[in-house]
Amino acid sequence: MKGMKEISALYPEELKAVLEEMGEKPFRADQLFSWLQKGASFDEMTNISRELKEKLRESCIDRPVSVLEEHRSRVDDTVKLLYSLRDGNCVEGVVMHYHYGYSLCISTQVGCAMGCRFCASTLEGCVRNLTAAEMLGQVHCANALLKEKGGKIGHIVLMGSGEPLQNLPQVERFLRLVSHEKGLNISLRHISLSTCGLVPRMYELADMGLPVTLSLSLHAPNDLIRRRLMPVAERYTIEETLEACRYYVRKTGRRVIFEYALIDGVNASPECAAELAGRLRGFQCHVNVIPLNEVPERQLYGVTDSQVQAFLDALEKRRISATRRREMGDDIQGACGQLRKHHLEEARP
Ligand code: SAH
Repeated sequence: MKGMKEISALYPEELKAVLEEMGEKPFRADQLFSWLQKGASFDEMTNISRELKEKLRESCIDRPVSVLEEHRSRVDDTVKLLYSLRDGNCVEGVVMHYHYGYSLCISTQVGCAMGCRFCASTLEGCVRNLTAAEMLGQVHCANALLKEKGGKIGHIVLMGSGEPLQNLPQVERFLRLVSHEKGLNISLRHISLSTCGLVPRMYELADMGLPVTLSLSLHAPNDLIRRRLMPVAERYTIEETLEACRYYVRKTGRRVIFEYALIDGVNASPECAAELAGRLRGFQCHVNVIPLNEVPERQLYGVTDSQVQAFLDALEKRRISATRRREMGDDIQGACGQLRKHHLEEARP
C-alpha cells in the first residue's frame, strides 16, 4: 500500500511527468486528468489503453475514498455519509439540498486538534491530515450518490472534521483541482472555508488569491467568553483575528461570514448580541447564527427558538446582517464528528 501514488491529486504537468517516467506519451495526461478529476476508476477509462491501465494499477490509486455508511434524513433531503479511507480511518460528510442546488460539507482531517469545547470532532484529537486526493474523493462519492437523481455537487463547504488551515498545502491543492476547468470546474466562489481562526494562515490564504468565502468561527463577543469555548482564543485575540479578516476582505473582495453558535448561559444573551454588533460595526460581513447542536459529552446546552430570534433582532437593530443557519439532518447526527464517533464506539470491544 505504501508508495502508491494518489494520482487524482496531481496537476496536469505532474501527471505528464509520471507518464513520462513510465515511458508513456505525455499527451495521454490530459485524457487521464479529466477522467481522474471526474472520479472515474481505471476500469472506466474507455479511451486509455489496457497496457497503460495495467501499469497505473500497479503503482497508483484511482479512488482513495469509498462510502461506508449512508444515512438519509426523514425530515429533509439531507444525506450524511461516513467514508472509509485506505488506511482504515474514516471521516464524515453531509450532502445538503438547497434551492440553488446540492452542497457538500467535506472533512479536511481525521479528527481535529483544535479542542473547541462544543465540538464532537475534536474529542479524540487529530489523527492525521487528509490528502487533496481524499478531499476530492469525498466530492466524487457524493456525485456518484446524486447521479441517480440527475444531480451533482455545485457548492462546497470545508466545515466537516478538521481545521482546514492546519492542512493548508493539501487544501490549496484540493481547491485548485476541484475548480479546474478540465475537472469538476466548481467555482471557487461557491466554496466556503471555515476556520477557528489560525491568524497567520488566514493571511497566507488571503495572499493565495483564491476567491473562496472565508467563514470565521467566532462564537463569542469578547476574548473572555471565547477563551472558555475555544483554546485557539488563548493564542489570538478577537481583535487580531478580525484584523486578519479585514485583510482577507481587502485582498479578495469577498465578505466574511462569522459563525456564531448560541450556547445557553454562555454567549446567547441580548447583551452578548449588542457587544458583538459593536465589534462588527462597519465590517463587510454576515453573521450565521446557529443553535448549538448538543453533543452529549459536553455540558453545554442549546437555546430556544425565541432566544435565537431575540439574538437576531438585537443584531439587526444595530444593522448587522444576520440569519439563522438552517439546521439540517437533525435526525441523523448532523453535527460535525458525531457519526464517526458513534462508529468508533460501536467498533470498540
Ligand atoms: N475547524 C473549522 C471547520 C470545522 S467546524 C472551524 O472551526 O471553523 C465547522 C463549524 O461547525 C464551525 O463553525 C464550528 O465552530 C461549528 N460547530 C462545531 N461543533 C458544533 C456544534 N456542536 N454545534 C454547532 N456548531 C458547531
